[in-house]
Amino acid sequence: MRVLTGIQPSGDLHIGNYFGSIKQMVEAQSQNQTFAFIANYHAMTSVNDGKRLGELTMQCATDFLALGIDPEKSVFWVQSDVKEVLELYWTLSSFTPMGLLERAHSYKDKTAKGFATNHSLFSYPVLMAADILLFNSNVVPVGKDQIQHVEIARDIAIKFNNQYGDILTIPEFKVQEEVATVPGIDGQKMSKSYGNIVNIFGDEKSQLKTIKKIVTENVSVEEPKEYETCNVYNMAKLFLEGDNLKALQERYRRGGEGHGHFKIYLAEVMWEYFREYREKREYFEKHQNEVREILKNGADKAREIAMPTIEKIRSVSGISY
Ligand code: ATP
Ligand code: MG
Repeated sequence: MRVLTGIQPSGDLHIGNYFGSIKQMVEAQSQNQTFAFIANYHAMTSVNDGKRLGELTMQCATDFLALGIDPEKSVFWVQSDVKEVLELYWTLSSFTPMGLLERAHSYKDKTAKGFATNHSLFSYPVLMAADILLFNSNVVPVGKDQIQHVEIARDIAIKFNNQYGDILTIPEFKVQEEVATVPGIDGQKMSKSYGNIVNIFGDEKSQLKTIKKIVTENVSVEEPKEYETCNVYNMAKLFLEGDNLKALQERYRRGGEGHGHFKIYLAEVMWEYFREYREKREYFEKHQNEVREILKNGADKAREIAMPTIEKIRSVSGISY
């Protein structure tokens, strides 16, 4: 089974990225052929400071390696190092009805939030379809926000195959229900570009500062509190299981503690959870050349795997002549 995931280097990686996608990917590595890439072309839709995009790309690669993407097990590369993806993107554009893109929630959400509406933001799902289809991926682990994009990739692949035969593998999304949408500090979907994140690798002090800003219900300390709807709880539960989770629920039910206490607890469990990853990150931070080497080898491998598909597509679509 081929499993593929991509993350945009559009800002610091956050706990939504981790639980919605990276963690599932790391776990899939033992039993599948896994493909993980840094989606720097996608990030151009929101980052147009070139220096920053370059830096964020290396930062994101360093984070990925620290979080457990293993270059021995996974093909791991930067999107722009396999330029054939842009060729496929263009080819697929001709199999993408405008209506399909006009219905995309992510585009509608971003425009509603006042982001500049470039063509790149509009056609983003076609590039994502190319990312997925270029590697004949079977499964794409995503957060709930990306389900529709994988469905668009399926639709495009089906249209292409109807025209030219069984060339593209029809992908499926995989969502882990408990972490489908991790809330941000304002209660909306946590997103790099919304400025509402709790990042994975911040320093302890600034992380606590961010966590203290999480929006909570205004109730007195004494009162029992609802945990299902609490943003702090919905983040904390990601790091807890079994008795620890039950104990936290009990603290909400019992009352006598304010949200400030739960926030401090969240900061503590999170800090512990990522401890070993922070140590690994320090290593890669000091060995950036090793990271570059890993990315280069990954791109070579990715291109080798993509070429037969690209050649078939060139042939059937008449681009090879
Ligand atoms: P941007 O704001 O630039 O779109 P993002 O934070 O949404 O950034 P992406 O790079 O778009 O992150 O998404 C990377 C992966 O993380 C995708 O699989 C996406 O579904 C998942 N993901 C992003 N945000 C969340 C979230 N809040 N909860 C669960 N999964 C998420
Ligand atoms: Mg996103």
